[in-house]
Amino acid sequence: MAKQEPALTRRTVAVVGGGWSGCAAAVELARAGHKVTLFEAARTLGGRARRVATDDATLDNGQHIMLGAYRDTLRLMKLVGVDLHQAVLKLPLQMRYPPLSPAPGMDFLAPRLPAPLHMLVALLRAKGLEREDKLSLARFSTTARWMGWQLHADCSVGELLQRFDQTERLIKLMWRPLCLAALNTPPERASAQIFLNVLRDSLGASRSASDMLLPRADLSALFPDAACRWLASHDGSVRTGAKVRSLQRAGNGLWKVDASGDAVGGNWSAYFDGVVLANTASHAAVLLHDIAGADTSALCTQLTAFESEAITTCYLQYDAGLKLDLPMYALVDQPDRHEWGQFVFDRGQLDSKQAGLLAVVISASGAVVEQGHALLAEAVAVQLAVAFQWPELGAPRWFKVITEKRATFACAPAMIRPGNSTGLSGLAIAGDYTASDYPATLESAVRSGIGAAASLFV
Ligand SMILES: Cc1cc2nc3c(=O)[nH]c(=O)nc-3n(C[C@H](O)[C@H](O)[C@H](O)COP(=O)(O)OP(=O)(O)OC[C@H]3O[C@@H](n4cnc5c(N)ncnc54)[C@H](O)[C@@H]3O)c2cc1C
Repeated sequence: MAKQEPALTRRTVAVVGGGWSGCAAAVELARAGHKVTLFEAARTLGGRARRVATDDATLDNGQHIMLGAYRDTLRLMKLVGVDLHQAVLKLPLQMRYPPLSPAPGMDFLAPRLPAPLHMLVALLRAKGLEREDKLSLARFSTTARWMGWQLHADCSVGELLQRFDQTERLIKLMWRPLCLAALNTPPERASAQIFLNVLRDSLGASRSASDMLLPRADLSALFPDAACRWLASHDGSVRTGAKVRSLQRAGNGLWKVDASGDAVGGNWSAYFDGVVLANTASHAAVLLHDIAGADTSALCTQLTAFESEAITTCYLQYDAGLKLDLPMYALVDQPDRHEWGQFVFDRGQLDSKQAGLLAVVISASGAVVEQGHALLAEAVAVQLAVAFQWPELGAPRWFKVITEKRATFACAPAMIRPGNSTGLSGLAIAGDYTASDYPATLESAVRSGIGAAASLFV
């Protein structure tokens, strides 16, 4: 006899926060048949991966890269109707520096071959690396594979690289920029285990998982806006400009949610069977702390213990005809020489409306922020002009510097990250900071949203 699926009890759920974790939780809950209301304090969906309207152009709050290994993000994007072929530019794994740069760089490009051949050929063909660097990279990869990408005890990336006897050149041109880009934390303070997890799914993975995906659409359009339309067609609703102020348990087992903002007509309250707090660790802690009669102190302590790292993106607009040879390059950053840029992206090769726009990324940018926008943009433009031996790059038409001071948590060794459970029935937390193999990324946010949805009524 065919096994009968248990009948679904349809419930009402409030999701607080319209970043990628909140959107993922909302979609998964609606997919399971629940009636979802998503609250986002800002006017634009996307949180730390969102569109920003400026006087000159529509930009992102920061250039993002996804990996082919972001399986849950890509699955949900597809589910809500995003055409992945149009939405992202797929590039093979690479670390390519401007070839004319006076600062010695390298050219590492994984060819479109099955794994692990793609890495082997990339290594053999890599330019700018000496034999000892290539042997050192091969040794790293073989040892990490042999260890199953798993450490007995976590340590810093800096210590790991020493232990694996990595050459100075490889550290400078490959490991440090990869660590900064992936963990947004300098190697001397970053978790080696989380770094290994990322490498397992990039350097050590199948070719398609190691692909780098560059968004062609703005970050809100890339998933959150599409998730919002999908929710509306699945009996859900999305309220942007609606900040949740308080969350309380009502006597009947329901949760009372109070919100304010234009979108909810001033002040507003309603009751829900369940709530997912997808509004960053520190904001979730404020709401959890104020729940009457619940002891959330241990969880709140954990949520407020995260330290933040900043990311700065410097947008430089040139004539529309200006085009780099590749959509992205790594740059040698030398802060002591005021050369802060770590990667440059030619936005015009991603979106024709952004012709001539370059985005230069500076991860772990805490110290850089002090420069002031004009000085920083000027220094970055000079760095590009020198790196590409192209004087025109030194004189952009306009610039816009966007710094997210709390871009990600600092991904330190042996961090203990909370799970989705709050210990309170019908209340879960979601966000890039919850327990995960990954650092703070879109994929960890999305996986966390999915986990919160799955655990809410268990
Ligand atoms: C500049 C930058 C570059 C990055 N680069 C990459 C990259 O290349 N690749 C990658 O994978 N990741 C990258 N990340 C990390 C990635 O963007 C984040 O990990 C992810 O967006 C976090 O999503 P989240 O849903 O967990 O949190 P958030 O995006 O912070 O979402 C929380 C949302 O809750 C809302 N909110 C807060 N309080 C309330 C309230 N009381 N009521 C209603 N709403 C509320 C906030 O407005 C916000 O929209 C980058 C981040 C930044 C900032």
